[in-house]
Amino acid sequence: MPSKYIALPKGVSEKAFDAAIREYREILGEANVFTDEGHLVSYSKIMIPDSTENHQPSAAICPASTEEVQLCVAVCNKYKVPVWPISTGRNLGYGSAAPGSRGQVVMDLRRMNKIIEVDRELGTALVEPGVTFQQLYDYLQEHKIPLWLSCPAPSSIAGPLGNAADRGVGYTPYGEHFMFSCGMEVVMPTGELLKTGMGGLPNSNTAQVFKWGYGPYLDGIFTQSNFGIITKMGFWLMPAPPAFKPYVIRYPEETDIVDIVETLRPLRMAMVIPNAVVIVHALWELGSFLKRADHYEGAGSIPDAVVNHRAAAEQAIAGQDPARRCRPDRRRHPRPGAGRGTGRRWAVLGRNHRPQVSENQPWLKSSSPGATSTPRSPIRSSPHSKRERRRGNVPGIPMSPGHPAQSTAPQGGATEVSTPCCWVCHRCRLRAATLVG
Ligand SMILES: Cc1cc2nc3c(=O)[nH]c(=O)nc-3n(C[C@H](O)[C@H](O)[C@H](O)COP(=O)(O)OP(=O)(O)OC[C@H]3O[C@@H](n4cnc5c(N)ncnc54)[C@H](O)[C@@H]3O)c2cc1C
Repeated sequence: MPSKYIALPKGVSEKAFDAAIREYREILGEANVFTDEGHLVSYSKIMIPDSTENHQPSAAICPASTEEVQLCVAVCNKYKVPVWPISTGRNLGYGSAAPGSRGQVVMDLRRMNKIIEVDRELGTALVEPGVTFQQLYDYLQEHKIPLWLSCPAPSSIAGPLGNAADRGVGYTPYGEHFMFSCGMEVVMPTGELLKTGMGGLPNSNTAQVFKWGYGPYLDGIFTQSNFGIITKMGFWLMPAPPAFKPYVIRYPEETDIVDIVETLRPLRMAMVIPNAVVIVHALWELGSFLKRADHYEGAGSIPDAVVNHRAAAEQAIAGQDPARRCRPDRRRHPRPGAGRGTGRRWAVLGRNHRPQVSENQPWLKSSSPGATSTPRSPIRSSPHSKRERRRGNVPGIPMSPGHPAQSTAPQGGATEVSTPCCWVCHRCRLRAATLVG
């Protein structure tokens, strides 16, 4: 039977859902409960190989406090409505803001966006789900707190809580985000409130310092599970090191990956390289800067020769002054000779954090034959130094969404996202962050 709703939760009648929607509106107000197609379209877009139909939400509700979350969960229980929480809803790898199954109500927590506390001495932060990496970064800058964030690639618009709940990764030594979280507040399916670790003790002031508390450790149960709705999460932030040194090692062939991994693994295990390195193919880099048609207009997959040529051109541009790199026309039409030769198609991107500024990185030299390594000069870590801004590739600073796949915006349709012209260009990142902010 046709329904006035785009989808209904499984096993819930339209009459029961009417009543649930009425109660959500009493709790949250009309403006924070959506059932119309226009608003739900941004909660329906998926980025997984499945039919959109299977991930169509029935409604979206936007609480602004833990108490409102608890009240909404009580309504869900009363009418047996399945609920799907999102924090910033930028889950661009696994499905964006769309629910796991058809008919679920999306609980969008982006209105809960308070940075509750940052302890500069202990290096801890306590945030609500809607806080973005950009917001937390701006807070640290504004208050001149010398701590670094670990950010995932689409970080300016994503948030630490949702990313850690999804077991995301970043690229500083604190890059295993769930491992560096400490203490959660969770609304359980019954509507009760649970505080994990030391937060479980009355008047605790150590919830963000010591993970374990007393008894069984529970936090993992709430990651990649939706067994509870996390309304606060604590994090450890990394003290800004005196210096860091980015590098890129380029390899010509896919078979080189074996050498890359064999070389890097022992260094990573021994913590000589303390953070995650990224191994990317030239196509990933090329797709981050320009559209496919800017590289190749033919049908079918892009021939290897074109990838090689474009990679060579990009690598020539990457060596240029950032001010020149910022010009998209220069990317589309590299200066004569820039694309000559064969580009090295695999890049290993990383950086080391150093107790002092040093030019030496002897282990880089031990990478396999055929590789070209580009250790750049070390960068001192004062967050706004001119030198750092010029160089880009700045850890601790959220990256703007550079990939075309990242231009979705829950609750508001498509957001205009400028594509940075080069992934290392900090200037572009800042510009895009301003646009989406
Ligand atoms: C080109 C590209 C590059 C990427 N690079 C990275 C990368 O470097 N590192 C990385 O980690 N990811 C990466 N991703 C994946 C993804 O975009 C990020 O992980 C993103 O941070 C997740 O979105 P979010 O933080 O908005 O989380 P959300 O979308 O808000 O949440 C993610 C999921 O976690 C659960 N969840 C969220 N909030 C809660 C809550 N309050 N309570 C209970 N459960 C909750 C839900 O199941 C939700 O669907 C990349 C994606 C793309 C397309």
